[in-house]
Amino acid sequence: MSTSELPYQVLLYYRYTHIEDPEAMRQEQFDFCSKHRLLGRILVAQEGINGTVSGLKQDTESYIAYMKQHPLFQGIEFKIDPFEHHTFNKLHVRVKSEIVRLGLGERDVDPTQETGKYIEPLEFRDLLRNKPEDVIILDARSRYEFEVGKFPDALTLDIENFRELPEQLEAISHLKDKTVITYCTGGIKCEKASALLMKEGFKNVFQLHGGIVRYGHEADGENFEGACYVFDQRVVAPVNKVNPKVIGKCALCATPTERMINCANTQCNKHFLICATCADQLEGCCSTECLSSETRRIWDGKGYYLRGVNSKNYYSKDHSDLHQVTLRETQEQA
Ligand SMILES: [Zn+2]
Ligand SMILES: [Zn+2]
Repeated sequence: MSTSELPYQVLLYYRYTHIEDPEAMRQEQFDFCSKHRLLGRILVAQEGINGTVSGLKQDTESYIAYMKQHPLFQGIEFKIDPFEHHTFNKLHVRVKSEIVRLGLGERDVDPTQETGKYIEPLEFRDLLRNKPEDVIILDARSRYEFEVGKFPDALTLDIENFRELPEQLEAISHLKDKTVITYCTGGIKCEKASALLMKEGFKNVFQLHGGIVRYGHEADGENFEGACYVFDQRVVAPVNKVNPKVIGKCALCATPTERMINCANTQCNKHFLICATCADQLEGCCSTECLSSETRRIWDGKGYYLRGVNSKNYYSKDHSDLHQVTLRETQEQA
């Protein structure tokens, strides 16, 4: 079946805009999505909207049309991936303080006022083919994301969550005079990350427009190494149709793999890469300690665990970072 014949679509989108009444918007979104049988996660804040949903093609098309004609979301862009089925089990629409959390409070950046200049996918592809020395490509994502895929020679930051980014900028403060191009999954983090860099005195800041996902669609993902970490049941999605390679490695034996699971030990729940052989041997655990723990869940070969069934409740955690959390929830819902 060619991708155009697949019955479902997964949408990824965001829009920074001013939403006066996030609670009313939450209800509006929930009502529309429920009516059109969409599943996924949508975050609404005064600063805008951030969402990823799946549904039948005609339902996702209705949603896109509704959003594009909405006065608050003029100019919104959708990344669309055809798929065989839903990639979520539930619909969550929540009001948050930020649509992607940097946690700067009063010092927060406003991408509608100032943000890095866009570099389009084809332009970025050409630049990668012959990258000048003084151009720095900065990955704005977390460790578990870039471990499974990234652009060649990209500078990565040792962070587990986007809100750790501000404190990590110190480590790259010597690059303020260079040209810095940031990228992330779909572009939303870079709107803030690039704005923050500019505020910190970086002089020439760009952001990859639409992130890795749009780069995959429009530039065939050329030279991207590995796969793209996504925040739904797919966990990773292919990007590079030109010269793909696997860069992910089993955390235990270093065999190349793109298989990411949560440790079967509830108390650990570490999100990590593991090859099929090691996963079977350790029954989905990250270590022999976790294998012998009393809080170990039953390994069914998937590494996703149902929330509330013999596992921690991640809903009680602060999860304003959609991306970080969707993953955990997905892992637990699937
Ligand atoms: Zn292994
Ligand atoms: Zn573990």
